[in-house]
Amino acid sequence: MGFRGFWVGLAALLCCVAPVRAQTSAKETHELYDSLNALRLNPAAVFNVRQLELQRGDARMSLEEGTLAFYAPLHGRVTGAVFAGTGHVLSVPRDAVEKQQLAHFLGTAILDQEFQWAYLRFTDRTAEELRSQIRASDSPAISDAPFVARWNAEIERLNPPHSLRILLDWVAQKPIPYFFAAVNSPQVETFEITLDQRRDEPLMIGQVRASGEASYYDVWTASRPREFAPAGPAFRALRYAIETKVLPDNSLEGSATITARADREGERMLVLELSRALSVESAGDSSGEELAFFQNEGLNKRERNRRGNNALVVVLPRAPNRGEEFTVRLEYSGSVISDAGNGVVYVGEHGAWYPRLGASESFADYDLTLHWPRKFRLVATGTKINESEEGDFRTGHWRTEKPISVAGFNLGDYLSVSVTDGSTSVEVYANRQLEEALNSRLNAPAPLLGPVLNSRGRPVLPPPSMSHSASPPSPADALQHLAREISASLRFFETFGGPFPLRQLNVSQIPGTSGQSWPGLLYLSTLSFLPAGAQHRAGLSQAFQEHFSELVPYHEVAHQWWGDVVGWRSYRDQWIDEAIANYLGLLFADSRKIPEHTLHDWLARYRSQLIAQPANGEAAPAELGPLSLGNRLTNSKSPAGFEQVIYSKGTWVIHMLRMLLRQPGSKNLDERFNELLRTIAAKYAYRALTTDELQREVEAVMTPAMDLDGGRSMEWFFEDWVRGTGIPHYKVEYNVKHGESGFQIRGTLRQGGVPHGFVAPVPLYAEIAPGQRVLLGTVIASGEETPFHFTAAAAPRKLIVDPHMTLLCVRE
Ligand SMILES: [Zn+2]
Repeated sequence: MGFRGFWVGLAALLCCVAPVRAQTSAKETHELYDSLNALRLNPAAVFNVRQLELQRGDARMSLEEGTLAFYAPLHGRVTGAVFAGTGHVLSVPRDAVEKQQLAHFLGTAILDQEFQWAYLRFTDRTAEELRSQIRASDSPAISDAPFVARWNAEIERLNPPHSLRILLDWVAQKPIPYFFAAVNSPQVETFEITLDQRRDEPLMIGQVRASGEASYYDVWTASRPREFAPAGPAFRALRYAIETKVLPDNSLEGSATITARADREGERMLVLELSRALSVESAGDSSGEELAFFQNEGLNKRERNRRGNNALVVVLPRAPNRGEEFTVRLEYSGSVISDAGNGVVYVGEHGAWYPRLGASESFADYDLTLHWPRKFRLVATGTKINESEEGDFRTGHWRTEKPISVAGFNLGDYLSVSVTDGSTSVEVYANRQLEEALNSRLNAPAPLLGPVLNSRGRPVLPPPSMSHSASPPSPADALQHLAREISASLRFFETFGGPFPLRQLNVSQIPGTSGQSWPGLLYLSTLSFLPAGAQHRAGLSQAFQEHFSELVPYHEVAHQWWGDVVGWRSYRDQWIDEAIANYLGLLFADSRKIPEHTLHDWLARYRSQLIAQPANGEAAPAELGPLSLGNRLTNSKSPAGFEQVIYSKGTWVIHMLRMLLRQPGSKNLDERFNELLRTIAAKYAYRALTTDELQREVEAVMTPAMDLDGGRSMEWFFEDWVRGTGIPHYKVEYNVKHGESGFQIRGTLRQGGVPHGFVAPVPLYAEIAPGQRVLLGTVIASGEETPFHFTAAAAPRKLIVDPHMTLLCVRE
């Protein structure tokens, strides 16, 4: 990277852009947005250019030779340019994970691509940088009307998403600039380079790519270049007051009053999440003044469903001061309640049924008033204050006792069962009927088979009877059993997370295969309510039956602490709550059966899943990327990547920590592990936990044997297992000599399948008689070969690596 690029980058950093409009009415804001959309190229600003360079974070763009045209200015500012010719992008990520991801997508750890055209949008000093390089090279302006006309047709379509981002800076008092480039390369087609300092990780390079029916955003690399300080969220929601009416046709009318606080000075635009199926009708502030808002602007209803998103942008008339509280009131309507047939409905839009400000970490107080058709029962997050009936509707009022990060409700033609244990009650709700998809599957007649004929055409067996399909079960049959088990699991999880934080847990059925945990409210798949026979008839394998009966309900209950009390900071930390919830779910399942048996079955299953080579020739799940990549693991190359890696490897990581923290000889082997989780649950209650913080908490309770690096650091573990990719393979080679002091076992432990720096404590056992094993000791495997030497009293028949499954590895 040359000095020139460095200085150009610095110039961009030092720029200080004044706001275009620090105060605007709703009408003026919309006019500004419309004029940004209407921007076209400036026919008088087209140049033949050579060797122009832009450095953005770790990415360098060169416009080697071609035609460059600038956008026409608006309010004296140029916000875009287009280029056609020969160009080049070079980026070398500094971080090993990002290098691994580039290699995963592109085959090399460096981004080095030629391109033939580029579309640039910006609020930084890109125009000035390009202009001064053009002036220095004495390139004259040219006239190229066809070039301008061709691009203007494209620009009309490309402008809208950038108009909103530019508006964000133009109405802010202290703009935080951004840069965007879409370039087209012959090898990899169109990809994008974004440097947006408002984002947690400002530099992002990736592309939209389809796989099957779905389309994904493949993030090749994302990072925070060290010269950019994090901006942090501009606003934080403190309180929500939501009133929602569910109408008999399952449509919804709602209003939300959000009290928020400005955590950063000078910002005017709030970015909220609201289902695209709900249309905002009005937005106003506390004085009743109308606020400008943008929601899938310019898309009609069909387009909105197809390519819209759930972003809702509201613009305040002026920027609140830092620390200032303000309210925004929104009214909206649409359809977010889905009908699963056979009288079963559910909230299809999970967390997007109301406008929500901020991410997983933003805990707030909620006041919910809900109205719904009286034929249904309704359960919601929070404590129910009252419920009443009027005409064809019922009305209920809920208020949260503790802050929550998301509010939800569920409704149906429910039967319910309640179990109270001490001060906590569990109420389980299930529909009387099965949703249509499952109902028809269970009701389908047995396949029609003719009689079995012999070689001469004579029947040897009569046709199978048609009457053996049993009547479908009702999900309500399982209520008693589930309520008892869930109540028991609450007690069980208190060992690790402290007392259950609420007075009541409502468990409600949801059609389909997914579940969710809201504070005080669970969504559980219908499949978890079915007896084994019905699960089998519905086509579930043995492993899936166990998944829905033994694991899912308790995984979701564990989220009441791990997810609903202890939040996660960014996508890089989401694995923690999933992994802990899943592991504790398995420990509970274990506690109801033969100890360790269930857990070991699942660990073996997860290990096989991680190393299974997919038929399409793509990488095995273990090779997709580290746990810390979170939802980036789901992409066009691995559409189920998150599920495949996070649950299996995450569960193993928590298991390995528990095994490492065990103290042989102590009364409670797991005291340190339990203390670790209890400390985290108390210390990070109602806020976000990061991976680094988890590492520090493990370091606080680590045993001397865990200190492989020296200096009480668990860096080795987190680098290998959380921020690293791969599963080690082990092979033992050894010889035995009988000496005076016993049998001398000398050998080498070979480690493969992981990066060179991978370190792991590997327990080595000797089998001295069939089924009889003794621990020789732990070999700290590092690099490809680690020699070892043990003395044993008896001659080993063979050596076995980790027979008790304390380490995620493959034995060769
Ligand atoms: Zn989960």
